[in-house]
Amino acid sequence: MKKLLFLFSLTLFISCNQNSSKTSEENISKSQKATENDSQPNFGIVIHGGAGTILKENMSDSLEQAYKAKLEEAIRTGHEILANGGTALEAVQRTINVMEDSPLFNSARGAVFTNKGKNELDASIMDGSTLNAGAVAGVTNVKNPINLAYEVMVNSDHVLLSGKGAEQFAEEQGLEIVDPEYFYTERRFKAMERARDRDKTENRTAFYDPLTKDEKFGTVGCAALDKNGNLAAGTSTGGMSNKKYNRIGDSPIIGAGTYANNITCAVSSTGWGEYFIRGVVAYDISALMEYKGLSLQEAAHEVIQNKLPELGGDGGIIAIDHKGNVSMEFNTAGMYRASMNKNGELNIGIYSE
Ligand code: ASP
Repeated sequence: MKKLLFLFSLTLFISCNQNSSKTSEENISKSQKATENDSQPNFGIVIHGGAGTILKENMSDSLEQAYKAKLEEAIRTGHEILANGGTALEAVQRTINVMEDSPLFNSARGAVFTNKGKNELDASIMDGSTLNAGAVAGVTNVKNPINLAYEVMVNSDHVLLSGKGAEQFAEEQGLEIVDPEYFYTERRFKAMERARDRDKTENRTAFYDPLTKDEKFGTVGCAALDKNGNLAAGTSTGGMSNKKYNRIGDSPIIGAGTYANNITCAVSSTGWGEYFIRGVVAYDISALMEYKGLSLQEAAHEVIQNKLPELGGDGGIIAIDHKGNVSMEFNTAGMYRASMNKNGELNIGIYSE
């Protein structure tokens, strides 16, 4: 009996030891992985798909899933480029292309309509390593306006091109040109018609109608840090629904809608553009970091939660700093957003909670 008991205890001891050595092997390999990742150069990416009155009660489950899936597809596109050693500029462009090609966002394919029933697209991109930038405003037939902004940056002597001239430049650069019909979506057209009808019946003089602000927002943007420590940001939009007189918002304005500087951060804005222009929002965040030594999160909070509302504006930003810290700050009910760090940790959100 004593012998039996001894044998039983021995087996138990060996099997326990085997298990614990398995666990410690797992732990070692986990911590090895973490150390390997820590020794890898930092990189990261963050995106938005517009801010506004986005409320859970107004959203069907299937639409919410569709937004989340597209945000994830977009951010994974850019993350893969960065993980493989690609540039922040390329990641920003390709990530934005995914959202531009989706009818869900107010950008390229799903752009809002002007008061005259057209789509006028604005976009900009900035390279934080050189402070070079390119932008386009009011283009009507370029499939991916962010690509045109990039061409302006690298292949022209200018920073901002508009209208017919920008379209001619797009053709010369061999970019994909589409029939303006390509940008038609019933949802956006109807939203514009509703706003236009309200214009007539209410005889409004103000351009902006707070009751319909959710129909006017939905821009897309991306900011990225690559393995070489370079930052880049880009923004692409249809502007605001029912816009008139070839109105141009903040999205193609460097310093307002987009800004990137390797010594501070890369930022893309979304919201009521007139206020973002007046507040020079994207640059203001960078300047607070550069001149006042604020962290990215402190700077973003100060501008979006204090300075912008004091002016009367609303919206949000996404940003990443030169160390890979990310901010997704907004003062509206929601902002479509996602971020992914070098370890592949994904964070997707829509509402404020
Ligand atoms: N900021 C854009 C504009 O004013 C709109 C948006 O972000 O949705 O054109």
